[in-house]
Amino acid sequence: MRVTFWGVRGSYPVPGTATVRYGGHTSCVQIDIPGKAPFVLDAGTGMRDLGRALRTTALGHGEGHVNLFLTHLHWDHIQGLPFFEPVFSRGNRLNVWARSGRGTKINEAVSGVAGDAVFPIRFQELPANFRFASVRPGEDFDVDGVRVRPFALNHPGTATGYRLDFGGASVAYITDTSPFDRIRYKKHFSKGPPKVLPAGDRKILNRMRRDLVEAVRGVDVAIYDTSFTDAEYEKLPHWGHSTPAHALEIVKEAEARSLVLFHHAPNRSDDEMDQILAQTREAAAGSGIPVEAARQGLTLEAR
Ligand SMILES: [Zn+2]
Ligand SMILES: [Zn+2]
Repeated sequence: MRVTFWGVRGSYPVPGTATVRYGGHTSCVQIDIPGKAPFVLDAGTGMRDLGRALRTTALGHGEGHVNLFLTHLHWDHIQGLPFFEPVFSRGNRLNVWARSGRGTKINEAVSGVAGDAVFPIRFQELPANFRFASVRPGEDFDVDGVRVRPFALNHPGTATGYRLDFGGASVAYITDTSPFDRIRYKKHFSKGPPKVLPAGDRKILNRMRRDLVEAVRGVDVAIYDTSFTDAEYEKLPHWGHSTPAHALEIVKEAEARSLVLFHHAPNRSDDEMDQILAQTREAAAGSGIPVEAARQGLTLEAR
């Protein structure tokens, strides 16, 4: 399984001189398995470059398909979709998986990314064929012979992580999520964290954390939301993002084989990212877990 990062930022794209090395595009990760159609995790603005890179495949002449897994529908995870070249070729097919929430159908929610007020053509007029399917945390399924496990994350409006397993190799994609100690998704995000977390919420968070550790268990590559520094998390625990320390805690407990820092804060410069990576490597040294920071164009082998 080859992992390629096309977009690594959270929130909004940040082109400019401070982000040249790590890149400014929002979340989009490709998982390539020889002989199979591309697996894609999230459709942030990085998806535009992915579409161009796929010109030489069957998708370039309207005979391919893509398996796209969306963690959730915040802009930084879907905005690249109408700029993804393969959607403009009739004959291509996009299979899209996401978790439906608040009574919304996946196709209706995703189609909001292109339409009257926000894009020159309506989503329904995009030439490619779309198929939508809903996922449920903990309910595994197979796609083109790849085992997919969705799991719940702690994020406003909920987000879903995915683990992909094929031929003894595995990748887990864990974004966007708050740690599981201070606040519970859905319930406290708008008001901020409660002074004392009610016992019922603590129980639910403990269960989510346990399920997450199980989903990440022994994975070759764990890609983790590390938007915040410890100090930022203290200030904004209800924004739904994690820190390198929490990521490390989860991957250690799950005995994952490597950690990739991901969903970098938009205001983080290349130099600051270097620093965060160096600090996290130092913190991970005793565990023997290799740490990398995602950057646009980075390719890793999961095996
Ligand atoms: Zn995000
Ligand atoms: Zn989000």
